[in-house]
Amino acid sequence: MTSKVVVVGRDSQDIVNAMGLAKIIADGSGSSISAIVLGGGEDLPRVASGIASEGYVVSGTGHAPELISAALRSALRREELYAVVAPALKDLTDALARFSASLGIPMFTEVTEVLPRQGEGLVIRRAALAGRAVAEYSSAPPISATVAPGRFPAPAPSPSAQLKVGTIDVGTQGPEVLGVEQKRREGVDISSAEIVVGVGRGFRSKDDLGMAFRLAELLGGAVGCSRPIAADYGWLPEDRWIGISAKKIRPKLYLALGISGAPQHMSGVMDSKLIAAVNKDKNAPIFQYADYGVVGDLYQIVPALVKRLEELHK
Ligand SMILES: Cc1cc2nc3c(=O)[nH]c(=O)nc-3n(C[C@H](O)[C@H](O)[C@H](O)COP(=O)(O)OP(=O)(O)OC[C@H]3O[C@@H](n4cnc5c(N)ncnc54)[C@H](O)[C@@H]3O)c2cc1C
Repeated sequence: MTSKVVVVGRDSQDIVNAMGLAKIIADGSGSSISAIVLGGGEDLPRVASGIASEGYVVSGTGHAPELISAALRSALRREELYAVVAPALKDLTDALARFSASLGIPMFTEVTEVLPRQGEGLVIRRAALAGRAVAEYSSAPPISATVAPGRFPAPAPSPSAQLKVGTIDVGTQGPEVLGVEQKRREGVDISSAEIVVGVGRGFRSKDDLGMAFRLAELLGGAVGCSRPIAADYGWLPEDRWIGISAKKIRPKLYLALGISGAPQHMSGVMDSKLIAAVNKDKNAPIFQYADYGVVGDLYQIVPALVKRLEELHK
């Protein structure tokens, strides 16, 4: 029997975000790819035709991890699996953990590399110690894995190979979801921005963040922040929070303003091509990571940068 790599998402964008990894594992192990979306699914042929050999829509789970896990349990058999992959989002990670535990298969979160070898096991790598080290594991299949959205580019679909999409009816066999309340969001996606201006506790008030927003606008970038700015002060919504407990970003330029460079923050920016920092403390840890650093007061440096860029934009 051909083994399967199953890619799971809440919608087609999730499938795109995890398909790059699914394809690497499938190609290396000689497996086929199945795509499962939890609801919707009209878009599945557009993103998965020619890559996946089968597609399924599971309805009725919402974002409830217990129900997603139960749906996967009833749709998949351990013997046919080589791997199950999903983007590293809270509800899918929770669901995959439950599913993996129930089948007794190992799970690896936020993998950075997977090397499958036909007839042999897999080598899996992921960041450890807040991004300062790489942990390497070897495992026999099946495994389950989550991956930072977009970490591996998705292969291009071929619309001529129209993917047939079936449905899986699992019924309700878990807690009932009574309501879903959306978190405050601004619709910014700092994970895909090419330039990110990061703001930290070096800013003295919410109003002062205005200069960082102006700088980001002039650079054509987006504003992200350290944990205190989103979680403690609530000056910015959580979708701008960068770090181990929030978003990982991989911009061409990360410009950190008034950020000390704690490991939990830096693990979210280590994949940036270039890191530049402004900090008034010459011993701030951020300078150990920065390609360019300015020791100075952001209240002088940022307005000067804004002024210069405005002159250049005239
Ligand atoms: C389990 C756990 C998870 C965590 N997860 C995250 C996470 O995901 N993301 C995250 O960011 N943090 C996280 N943290 C918190 C992290 O440890 C740090 O406390 C946090 O990143 C510090 O934020 P900061 O750099 O903005 O503030 P601070 O550490 O207070 O640094 C402020 C910096 O601004 C500089 N500064 C002050 N005034 C000026 C000025 N006028 N001009 C220039 N520089 C100035 C100071 O010299 C200082 O270096 C986590 C912590 C724990 C325990």
